[in-house]
Amino acid sequence: MAELKLSETRDLTRIERIGAHSHIRGLGLDSAMEARPSSEGMVGQHSARRAAGVIVQMIRDGRIAGRAVLLAGQPGTGKTAIAMAMAKSLGQETPFAMMSGSELYSLEVSKTEALMQAFRKAIGVRIKEEAEVIEGEVVELQIDRPAAGGAPAATKTGKLTMKTTEMEAAYEIGGKLIEALSRAKVQSGDVITMDKAAGKVTKLGRSFNRSRDYDAIGASTKFVQCPDGELQKRKEVVHCVTLHEIDVINSRTQGFLALFTGDTGEIRAEVRDQIDSKVAEWKEEGKAEIAPGVLFIDEVHMLDIECFSFLNRALENEMAPILVVATNRGITTIRGTNYKSPHGIPIDFLDRLLIISTQPFTEGEIRKILDIRCDEEGVDMSEDAKVLLTKIVTETSLRYAIQLITAAALACQKRKGKVVEMEDISRVYMLFLDVKRSAQYLMEYQNQYMF
Ligand code: ATP
Repeated sequence: MAELKLSETRDLTRIERIGAHSHIRGLGLDSAMEARPSSEGMVGQHSARRAAGVIVQMIRDGRIAGRAVLLAGQPGTGKTAIAMAMAKSLGQETPFAMMSGSELYSLEVSKTEALMQAFRKAIGVRIKEEAEVIEGEVVELQIDRPAAGGAPAATKTGKLTMKTTEMEAAYEIGGKLIEALSRAKVQSGDVITMDKAAGKVTKLGRSFNRSRDYDAIGASTKFVQCPDGELQKRKEVVHCVTLHEIDVINSRTQGFLALFTGDTGEIRAEVRDQIDSKVAEWKEEGKAEIAPGVLFIDEVHMLDIECFSFLNRALENEMAPILVVATNRGITTIRGTNYKSPHGIPIDFLDRLLIISTQPFTEGEIRKILDIRCDEEGVDMSEDAKVLLTKIVTETSLRYAIQLITAAALACQKRKGKVVEMEDISRVYMLFLDVKRSAQYLMEYQNQYMF
């Protein structure tokens, strides 16, 4: 086989890095929480997307805790895609941990330990610290609106709410700093740098994004009014970690390095108990906030009865994250028992689940998803080839056809073509079997395989 040229290998690497769900950027809902036909990479599945949107809203409002959601539907109907979209809509500040049911059967740690670690990866802790601000440091400004006709009040929370004119009126009371703020025409939500000694304020604009710019900003400033009427600066530093990270750092000699290697081993129950009581103490003192996130377990039918009873118990904990599970199984045996049940899930656990079902896609929706995937992978494909690929989905599966896009693009590159044609699709369709053809092949030639 001719060797791939450097440019080809580079393209290959780029293609490899495009994940199966990389085109999903959110649930694609409008402001009335209705699903747009095609938005944020999402196509079809209107009612499932709407239902997922309601759950996301409840999570944001902190109105859902210790609940569990089941995404149920045939293979390739987009259960994982919906879970990923929920994670995207919740934003980076909400912890989202993801695992597959079969991952629990590792030999390194017990099933319940692996589940416990997954749970704690989905629980965030925002730890607040107060420190003095260094003069001239970049800060996010927070000042309360002064009471009518009064002085600028001591600030506790919230962004700058004073209008420039109000500040001008109040500047004598606030002193040099307020005067400087007023000169810079600082308004609600602006981010500024300031040098109190020089009485100088520089406006940085309004595009402050807490997660993106946090390193640069590093703090938010509170103004607290001192008894003598002077304004004093304090900054509040917030660290966001997960309970799992605190567990790991406190439980192994190699400390935080285990976070990178993943070699955390079993974490002792006493360590977790101590951490829980410490976090509860911080919460009590207002030094920390608990942010329950989302734990997504795909292939939930792979869990056995012990795992389900663990989940039942774990969801009772007041810090429990929202559990989202998915399965493509119908009525099947619950692992570890001789009983059958819907989705292989015990009835008592099933009873606490909110169930969202996904439906098979229409041909038009399939075509749209393939269009989006071609765009995502930067693949130019002819109309005929797309029609053929859509037909292949109906015979095989969406996931198989999506994988063919990458392979067909390489076949096209190989023949120095620019646009993927039907011949490229047929070529890779013959090269790579889908499950149905592979099973058929096995049936025909099973005598020649080892028993
Ligand atoms: P399985 O039951 O086999 O695990 P699944 O239901 O989780 O399958 P996905 O893996 O989510 O299915 O979907 C298969 C492919 O189709 C993925 O690449 C996914 O990103 C894409 N996809 C699924 N649903 C949608 C959708 N509504 N809009 C756009 N792309 C989708």
